[in-house]
Amino acid sequence: MAEIVSDPDCLFCRMVAGEIAVDRVYEDENVLAFNDINPQAPTHVLIIPRTHIATVNDLQPDHHALAGRLYTVAARIARERGVADDGYRLVMNCNADGGQSVYHIHLHLLAGRRMQWPPG
Ligand code: AMP
Ligand code: ZN
Repeated sequence: MAEIVSDPDCLFCRMVAGEIAVDRVYEDENVLAFNDINPQAPTHVLIIPRTHIATVNDLQPDHHALAGRLYTVAARIARERGVADDGYRLVMNCNADGGQSVYHIHLHLLAGRRMQWPPG
């Protein structure tokens, strides 16, 4: 996995560092998952890498394993919540048109209700 880089001005890096409390769902040496503070579904978990990567545009080849890990952690949490069979949505917003508001990549796990398509 890639080395862990931290940006002191980044909200999610500060959560990783333990400076801001999170409602933790899962953690390992590379990944942290916590409940979204403004949930958009009965289950709304954010899965983030511990290392600071601002946007999907900043992913590098040495992030491949880490990026894949976000998905396997999401599926694990979905199974633990009992929503894996009914289904769920995984979203990673990028930049302004994608609706990104926190510039440290995060995978949204949304579940517990029927999602709309196309998204807004
Ligand atoms: P995005 O708009 O895709 O960048 O998603 C950022 C997400 O971070 C939003 O769903 C916010 O509700 C969530 N968020 C912002 N601050 C916090 C926080 N302190 N704890 C948990 N989730 C947060
Ligand atoms: Zn960060």
